Amino acid sequence: MTHSLNLNSLERWAEAPRINPLPARDGVPPPAISFEFFPPKTEALETQLWACIKRLEALNPSFVSVTYGAGGSTRERTHATVEKLVRETSLTPAAHLTCVGATRDEVDEVARRYWDAGVKHIVALRGDPPPGQAYTPHQDGYEYAADLVAGLKKIADFEITVAAYPEVHPEATNPEADLDNLKRKLDNGATRAITQLFFDNTLYLRFLDRALAAGIKAPIVPGIMPITNFTQASKFGAFIPAWLANIFEGLEDDLETRRMVAAATAAEQVRLLQANGIDEFHFYTLNRPDLTYAIARILGVKPADHGAVSS
Ligand SMILES: Cc1cc2nc3c(=O)[nH]c(=O)nc-3n(C[C@H](O)[C@H](O)[C@H](O)COP(=O)(O)OP(=O)(O)OC[C@H]3O[C@@H](n4cnc5c(N)ncnc54)[C@H](O)[C@@H]3O)c2cc1C
Repeated sequence: MTHSLNLNSLERWAEAPRINPLPARDGVPPPAISFEFFPPKTEALETQLWACIKRLEALNPSFVSVTYGAGGSTRERTHATVEKLVRETSLTPAAHLTCVGATRDEVDEVARRYWDAGVKHIVALRGDPPPGQAYTPHQDGYEYAADLVAGLKKIADFEITVAAYPEVHPEATNPEADLDNLKRKLDNGATRAITQLFFDNTLYLRFLDRALAAGIKAPIVPGIMPITNFTQASKFGAFIPAWLANIFEGLEDDLETRRMVAAATAAEQVRLLQANGIDEFHFYTLNRPDLTYAIARILGVKPADHGAVSS
């Protein structure tokens, strides 16, 4: 199709391909969903987290994960949050665990405590060095996430999830080496990868193609972060398409509109992925439930007592 500048909108419509990029979802079962939380630092944040968990619990996620602060800085808080999830909710928790700044024995000990507390799912990561420093493994530690995965499997038969990078991890030698690394993590015993957040679906879908071509069969679940604060989101390092930046431009002081725009753009993102066959989603909730709840509903997920989605 060629566009000449003097076509009016009706003529352009007549020329447009008759393909609906968002087919109706009739008959498509709701996707599996999971949520990520971070361990709270203060009592106020603790209250916010548990209100968030209570609201999202109703959506019956496959699991919920709790992050491990940079350099293992939240070891006890992560542990306390995960244990409380086991004790006080019907949810299946997954504990994030990193290699950075700890010996193998220390990491193994944390893993054993989890297993003994009934936590059988670990999100195994290398972790980031403190800001401004280059990563160097602890001399007695696990060097990379792939080594941690292998170590965990020696301790117990954990379910293990690892990280994947549609836009390539910034320290990777090249995209192929990064994909080889993902494959190593899966070959060592992980059964699922969750991606770093991304805002451009094409990058993720192309990454799936490359992963398939590399022989990866495990699910690579998209990590979705609904943008509430665009200025903050733009610092995460993910590529921001110009159209997205344009939508948020000038809304810095207009929280209400920003939230509506955030819901609409995230809904569009997940529906496009769903239309492309993606049936599992992981949400970075930032311990705030509302946007995630709304977007899960848009994907067809309902609280258990509302019954299944009819086709
Ligand atoms: C879903 C998700 C959850 C996260 N949760 C947390 C969290 O709770 N806490 C936290 O601190 N961070 C977290 N992170 C961030 C993560 O720790 C960082 O992105 C970190 O820099 C890399 O971790 P990784 O597990 O991907 O590392 P790895 O898989 O070990 O890879 C790290 C880098 O090393 C390269 N590499 C791997 N093996 C080799 C090798 N043998 N030789 C040379 N290069 C190699 C890889 O290509 C990559 O560039 C999370 C990230 C994601 C996507």
